[in-house]
Parts: sequence; structure tokens; C-alpha cells
Amino acid sequence: VARTAGGAQARWFTQAMQAQAQDRLQLEGRLREALEQNQFSLVFQPQLHLASGKVQHMEALLRWECPGVGFIGPQIFIPVAEDLGLIGRIGEWVMREACREVGRLKRLLAARGQPVPRVAVNVSAHQLLDAKLVPMVQSALAEAGLGPESLEIEITESIFLNDAERALATLEELRALGIELAIDDFGTGYSSFSYLTQFPFDRLKIDRSLIMNIDQPGKGHAIVSAIIALAHALGMRVTAEGMETPAQAHALQALHCDDIQGYGFSRPLRPVALEKLLLARPAFAAAERSVA
Ligand code: C2E
Ligand code: MG
Ligand code: MG
Ligand code: MG
Repeated sequence: VARTAGGAQARWFTQAMQAQAQDRLQLEGRLREALEQNQFSLVFQPQLHLASGKVQHMEALLRWECPGVGFIGPQIFIPVAEDLGLIGRIGEWVMREACREVGRLKRLLAARGQPVPRVAVNVSAHQLLDAKLVPMVQSALAEAGLGPESLEIEITESIFLNDAERALATLEELRALGIELAIDDFGTGYSSFSYLTQFPFDRLKIDRSLIMNIDQPGKGHAIVSAIIALAHALGMRVTAEGMETPAQAHALQALHCDDIQGYGFSRPLRPVALEKLLLARPAFAAAERSVA
């Protein structure tokens, strides 16, 4: 009986793997066409600066609407794009589009005497090993009429597994230009406190998985509290990711977290909605926002 069950299970696994392999092949084919066919777009998620009640940063997030399929999340297609060697071109599109959009916003807000928030762009490990990254970023800023103070680059810790020296050299070049650097998803995966001293980060983003339980007394709260204190002691500012409830926002405020990002403040927004939010910003306070 055990043998039969095992055989059935093996067959089931094989079928599931075949289906997965077919899905993957389809995904690859479609991803190759996505750039040419203009299927990518960006949304922007504002971050609330707790001390001022203003939006000083916003994160650009990539969206892919695949014809006949619908939206496919970046968590699914970015790793595939990396494997296929497409991340360089996709990443360049993201950088140029994010800068172009923020340049447009900057001129619009300037007419009302308002500054434009800094835009944070996610950059993949593969891109940091590309010698063309720094000149590409410079030209994206220049073409959009933006200075380096308008850009922040977010990277995840997996970067340091490959070629730490080259990654570090690129990061230092970007920072020397005046672009800020953020370490993303801190507290997951390969996090190590030694990265914080080895790499020149201006900002630490605490992963959503740690923020989820912050309003409960206990270990979750203690860990976030310690990370914020450590980041501040090292001269970094802190963004909490995935803040969904007012209780979490209050807990983060009490811990002197600098900025909060999450559905509890704002979902990622299309440019038109972002523009509206920023124009209404003087009246914009955390407590007045509900979960979208
Ligand atoms: P990330 O950089 O950590 O971005 C934050 C993710 O959390 C986003 O998911 C955002 O929509 C989501 N999020 C924000 N607030 C909340 C919340 O309150 N609750 C929950 N449940 N989720 C929240 P998204 O847009 O699906 O992106 C997923 C990941 O894909 C990003 O994580 C980033 O690692 C990657 N990614 C997105 N855009 C790009 C890009 O242009 N380039 C690269 N290399 N990676 C990207
Ligand atoms: Mg990010
Ligand atoms: Mg993150
Ligand atoms: Mg993430």
C-alpha cells in the first residue's frame, strides 16, 4: 500500500513539476515581449515622515500587465528577469520612467511652492555588477531635470552574496554623487549586522514581517525597538515597511521610527492619484488616513 501511495505521489509531483516548467516557459516568452510592447508601468507608494507629517519619500514599484493574464507581481517575474538576463534593461526602464515621472511632479509642485519627495527605486543585485549602471543613473536624472537629492536606491541584502567588493564600489560611486542608499527588507533572509558597518547606507527599511506584530507586547516589539536604536546609532534613518494599522503606526512613532510605509497610510498609487495626494499634502496627517 505504501509503495502504491508513494508511486501516486511521485506521479503527482512529476505532473506538478511539468506544469510548473510549462508555466515558467510561458512566463519567459511573455516577459521577453513585455518591454517592447509597453506592458510595464510604475506605481508610487508614499512614505509618511512621522516628525513632520509630510511625505518626504515614495517608492517606485514595477507593475506588469500581461495580456490575457492580468497583473503578475514583481515577486514572481523579477527573479525570472534576473535569470534571463533581462533585469538590466527592465531596471533601466524603471529608473528612467521613475525619474521622468518625478521630474514632471517636481515642476508641477514647484509652481505651488512645494518640494517633490525623493523617489526610491529598487535596484537588483545584478545591476550593481554592471559598469553601465552609474552613467545610466546619471543620465536618467539629467534627462528628467532632477538632481541626485531626488533619488534613493534600495537594495536587498542578497547583493552581498555574489561579488561584495564590486557591489561596494558601485554603491560608493552612487553615494558620492549624492544619491541616498537604503537597505531593503532588513530582518529577513541573509541579514547580518556586519553589512550595516561595511556598506554605506543612509536608510534601513525594516521588513514587513517584523512590523506585523509590533503592536503586541513581547519579542517582536523588542526586536524592532533594538533595530531602530541600532540604525540611529549608526547614523541611518529608518522606514518601517508594511504598516497596516493605526496601532502599528503608534507603536512605531513611540519608537522614533522616521518614516512609515504601508497600506495603513497609502497603497502604491498611479501617478494621477499620487499627484492628488501630494497637492493635498499640507492637510495630510497620519491619523486622518484610513486603510485603503
Ligand atoms: P519591496 O521593495 O520590499 O516593496 C514593498 C512591497 O510591499 C511592495 O510589493 C508593496 O506593494 C508591498 N506593501 C507595501 N505596503 C504594504 C502593506 O501594508 N501590506 C502588504 N501586505 N504589502 C505592502 P510589490 O509591489 O508586490 O513588490 C514586491 C517586491 O518586488 C518589492 O519588495 C521589490 O523587492 C520587488 N520590486 C518591485 N519593483 C521592482 C523594481 O522596479 N525593480 C526590482 N529590482 N525589484 C522590484
Ligand atoms: Mg523596496
Ligand atoms: Mg522591502
Ligand atoms: Mg520586499
